[in-house]
Amino acid sequence: MTSPFEALPVHFTLPARDARGRFVRLDSVLREILAAHDYPTCIKLVLAEAITLAALIGSLMKQDGGQVTIQAQTEGGIVELLVVDYRGGELRGHVRFDAERLARLGANPSLFALFGKGYLAMTFDQSFGKGRYQGIVPLDGDSLSQACESYFTQSEQVPTMIRIAIESDATGCRSAGYLVQHLPEGEEGRERLHVRLDHPEWEHVSILSSTLTHSELLDPAVDGRDLLWRLFHEEDEVRAEDGVALVKGCRCNLDHIRDVIGRFPPEEQAEMVGDTGTIVVDCAFCSRAFHIDPPAATQG
Ligand SMILES: [Zn+2]
Repeated sequence: MTSPFEALPVHFTLPARDARGRFVRLDSVLREILAAHDYPTCIKLVLAEAITLAALIGSLMKQDGGQVTIQAQTEGGIVELLVVDYRGGELRGHVRFDAERLARLGANPSLFALFGKGYLAMTFDQSFGKGRYQGIVPLDGDSLSQACESYFTQSEQVPTMIRIAIESDATGCRSAGYLVQHLPEGEEGRERLHVRLDHPEWEHVSILSSTLTHSELLDPAVDGRDLLWRLFHEEDEVRAEDGVALVKGCRCNLDHIRDVIGRFPPEEQAEMVGDTGTIVVDCAFCSRAFHIDPPAATQG
């Protein structure tokens, strides 16, 4: 029997309420991403939350190769940089932090203790030349999820509710994420809501959604469609379909890196050669170093 945690993400819409949502669960993909790094627990948890957010928000994009990047950056925070991204079901992420200062914090530091004065940037790269846009919001609230909710509400005027539950024990780390948002003009609608102050349809959806509990989100006996039924069985219509499978994915590989390095003039390549006699390129997402032969060696 496959774990419900390996089930595909569920995309759903409530046509009569002008709402759409996503439900995801991550198990092995999370374990794989975290296994590339040797992070203390609180950093693992914040990265797990960010990856789950990337899975939810990334799956809002049309599945044609577009990418979502979520980046949290701070001024003088213990976490200097957190980056996660999503492209076509592929997820990856890493965190750069000050280990010494982190060690002096207690076991469950607040978001502010970790990030200080921080910002959350959300970047949508749409494929096929459809452009790129970015929104930035202050990293306040109690969690990255709250900052993402603010992003949608403030930058896009799309009321959005996000719930994330994470469970971490000796066997690994699992997460579940639920996102629902109000799009009164349909999925493609650009007519935003800031002109209207009352949203009874949305209020209804958000009140029902707020009954979701941490344990329901993570309960392996309850799958995404069960959860939707629990929340919305009194609605006229709930449309649900499977999203694409979530996997760990990275674009680093030797051929690609060789190709990028090869575009620099030979003298600049020569300057990149390190003590090892090779050009070393790190992939922070995979904690891997790639060694590229300098031009003298490759050109014989
Ligand atoms: Zn990589």
